[in-house]
Amino acid sequence: MTQPRTLLSGGILVDGSKPHILVDSSGTIVAMSERREDVVSDNLTVVELEGRLLLPSLVEPHAHLDKSLTADVVPNPKGDLMGAIVGWREAESSGVIAHDEMVQRISRSLEMLLKSGVTLVRSHVNVGGPVSTRYLVAAIEAAQRYRDRMDIEFVALTYMPMSGEGSDLNLIALNEAIELGVEVIGGCPHLEPDSDACVSIAFELAERHGRKVDLHVDETLDPTALTINDVIRYSRGSQISTTASHCVSLGMLPSEQIKPLAAAIAEADISIVALPQTNLFLQGRDDPVATPRGLTAIHALRAAGVNLVAGADNAQDPFNFVGRNDPFETAALMVMAGHMLPVDAFSTISSNARAAISAPTVNIAVGEPADLLAVRATTIRQAIAEAPADRVVLKGGRVVATTSVMSELPALIP
Ligand SMILES: [Zn+2]
Repeated sequence: MTQPRTLLSGGILVDGSKPHILVDSSGTIVAMSERREDVVSDNLTVVELEGRLLLPSLVEPHAHLDKSLTADVVPNPKGDLMGAIVGWREAESSGVIAHDEMVQRISRSLEMLLKSGVTLVRSHVNVGGPVSTRYLVAAIEAAQRYRDRMDIEFVALTYMPMSGEGSDLNLIALNEAIELGVEVIGGCPHLEPDSDACVSIAFELAERHGRKVDLHVDETLDPTALTINDVIRYSRGSQISTTASHCVSLGMLPSEQIKPLAAAIAEADISIVALPQTNLFLQGRDDPVATPRGLTAIHALRAAGVNLVAGADNAQDPFNFVGRNDPFETAALMVMAGHMLPVDAFSTISSNARAAISAPTVNIAVGEPADLLAVRATTIRQAIAEAPADRVVLKGGRVVATTSVMSELPALIP
């Protein structure tokens, strides 16, 4: 008996072609043809995509699931970074943040991402300090519920300091996080007393345990904050998958300074994640006139060949009050605030994001995984602009989420 296979019909690719797509039981595309009779076989499950635009599924490469959806219970009246940090600490010590509610919140965020078309998520989770690995345990518990629908990996966002006095408990928690299976080592070198030591520890642990590195780097408008140089030094020549998130200060550098730095980042094979939502929200509050956007040096990095990625960062928490857990929202900001073409912005939430995470490619072609999004649009530009809720999400050829919308303009009684 033949293995059960899935036939995806009625989807339209960005080049206008309308292939019928056959997916085998392992979730791989094994045949594509505009002639249905070329790809039909026995024992098929048919998924009708009804003229939707068929794209690779979306990626959220930088979430903070432990904090997400807390905006209404963790106040930040001023709306600035310090207010968010203080609000979060007070919520932690008052018991507002608890295991069960965190599992529920993370589950809700993951469902929002899934319905948006995301089948691959990387989320930072606070590790160390007063919470040790408690948030990570809650995040893993929530992620377990969705393991057959999406791939989820966690970054241990290690509390400061990671070296010197006061670092003991943070490092113990980080090592516990590695034992719990966290895939990526994280931290914030520009906030550490010793940036070099922080980056060194991250790479040393990644090397020893076969993990990746994703650091919050230079999340400030101060152009002299360039701990990215430490990351370059350790990444260069290493085989460790390395990502530097935010890199806001790079966007403040003059052309003659950013050009060689961008070349060095490319040479060191570091992916850079722009995070327009939170950075537009938090950065530049001290500059009421001609407010800087707080985005990294998008165009200089791309020109140098750096793998540029975009993520949402915070979603509806004290660090960013809004956010729909929809990468099309991020891509729209990369178009509007980052001045990218829609098709390039799309790559920052799809192929480039997969490369940063070291995940397999998803091209809609024979031999590739059928991790796909069918959305009610005709072009990538329209999908980003309208972000239609009407979506069908597939993981390995199986439908893992659908959203349909019914609206009408009823006849008016004159
Ligand atoms: Zn972040």
